Amino acid sequence: MMKRTHKCGQLQSEDVGQAVVLMGWVRRHRDHGRVVFLDLWDRDGIVQIVADPAIYEGAYEVAQSLRDEYVVAVQGVVRERPAGAENLALATGAIEVAAARIEVLNTVSPLPFPVEDAASVDETVRLRYRYLDLRRAEMQQNLRLRHEVVKGLRNALDEATFLEVETPVLTRSTPEGARDYLVPSRVHPGEFYALPQSPQQMKQLLMVAGVDRYFQIARCFRDEDLRADRQPEFTQLDLEMSFVDQEDVLDLTEGMIARVVKAVQPDRELLTPFPRLTYDESMALYGTDKPDLRWGMAFVDCTELLGATEVRIFRQVSAEGGAIKGFRVTGYSGATEAELETLQVLSRELGAAGVIWFHVGEGTLEAPVARHLAAEEQRMLIRAFDAGPGDQLFLVAGEPTTVHRALDGLRREMGRRLGLDDPAKLAFAWVVDFPLVKWDAEGQRWDAEHHPFTHPKMEDLAILETDPAAVRADCYDLVCNGWELGSGSIRIHKRELQTQVLALLGYTTETAEASFGHLMEAFEYGAPPHGGIAIGIDRLVAILAGTDTIRDVIAFPKTRQAVDLMMRAPAPVSSAQLGEIHVRVVRPRPARSDAGAE
Ligand code: ASP
Repeated sequence: MMKRTHKCGQLQSEDVGQAVVLMGWVRRHRDHGRVVFLDLWDRDGIVQIVADPAIYEGAYEVAQSLRDEYVVAVQGVVRERPAGAENLALATGAIEVAAARIEVLNTVSPLPFPVEDAASVDETVRLRYRYLDLRRAEMQQNLRLRHEVVKGLRNALDEATFLEVETPVLTRSTPEGARDYLVPSRVHPGEFYALPQSPQQMKQLLMVAGVDRYFQIARCFRDEDLRADRQPEFTQLDLEMSFVDQEDVLDLTEGMIARVVKAVQPDRELLTPFPRLTYDESMALYGTDKPDLRWGMAFVDCTELLGATEVRIFRQVSAEGGAIKGFRVTGYSGATEAELETLQVLSRELGAAGVIWFHVGEGTLEAPVARHLAAEEQRMLIRAFDAGPGDQLFLVAGEPTTVHRALDGLRREMGRRLGLDDPAKLAFAWVVDFPLVKWDAEGQRWDAEHHPFTHPKMEDLAILETDPAAVRADCYDLVCNGWELGSGSIRIHKRELQTQVLALLGYTTETAEASFGHLMEAFEYGAPPHGGIAIGIDRLVAILAGTDTIRDVIAFPKTRQAVDLMMRAPAPVSSAQLGEIHVRVVRPRPARSDAGAE
């Protein structure tokens, strides 16, 4: 085999006259009768190869036999393209390589899709042949972006004296709110490792070990229902610091993120310091703890105002302790009935009884419901929303959680409709002061809002047992463009408090000991105060890449059904393998079909 001298994308006008050997894939070949043109691709770019029999007969003959994606070595000389034949769209567009020799390193079976058209191919086909999909420019860019982001994070943390420490993948259950992936033990029949949902307890134990500042690019595993921003395994930048308070963790994280974004995308506009909202504010203003702050449309609470009017539904909702809230869309009063109707459908899908809208006129409201509002009430409502002629108000009334869910959905939809969800914009924000626990109505118990190791706010400790719902935690989320990008907290570092919180979460002394005895024991051997955060790397890269699915920034992702279509995982294993790990498979009974044969 020849020896490669250059990468395809590297050649420029200065290289004219150079003898080169390039290796790569034939991205396109055009046979122009007496000359063959090839686009030769490698990771660094594309260069045009000319095989002209007038120059080298042998190279021309091989060139004629090539097909797309053949792997070839090309020996030749760099020359200027003839005037008028330059290609400005190509980094190497001023030159071409006149081939003296072409060697086929590998041929190609009929392709399932042309590599360049992969974007328009069904995703399941792309995932089945991911190695082909990854050969196209956009995916190569995503891989590179991810590399740059991770490199930037590592550098920033290294400079801030963090130590990168690896923690086990075979471990025991770490409660982060999802189901565990379990690995049966061969050596200990009937016992299982769990794949970590995060290295949470390990990093806390590293603080007890005196590591002081830890980080890891950590793979986390959670067996939960998948969405566009979730995968069964995903990557976090996990970090933990000793002798810090919330402010220290936020400062460090914000500086690191801003620095990395600047390094990888210098033209991005980034607002620092990141705005902060308390959890209560975020819920009241946007109905969610991960608001998309690229646009406004904050909610206005009109429960009191409208609850006192003649409109029966408003009176009723208000009397039942419900909420009437809404948001204003500037200049949207030209919306068609059909456009409004789809919002109605959406609000119902989100559980609300419907959405009520008003066109704002000159000091009056226009809508069927408006007839039942006195002129002064209309004016008060317009004032409450700070609305002007041409604006549109959207209101939802009902049980507060439903109102928030529906309005959040409607607000996101309006942002999309009006093109306010510009991927070029980055709206980072901190949501702080999360509640410590939330009530699980089904299980009739308190659940940790974040995880059981989160420190309650000192000033709320007194009401831990009497009013758990009102206890706030030193807990924070980083959000960006409507995604939760990271979560963290100051941790409990004393056994007594950890025991108390576990008791609140329904653990008995025995179950607490069985699940977390190791951690609480460590707390007795000199645990420093500590706290940290974990940032979702897949999500961060997806946002920077401007894609709405993390699958696009993971080399080999799984489908929504948690299947790796390329490796064909999961897959059955032999009974001998099962025997070794003491496992017997009990298949679920197939669901009975009513349409059985007669
Ligand atoms: N382990 C947490 C998580 O995965 C992050 C943290 O609290 O640092 O959400």
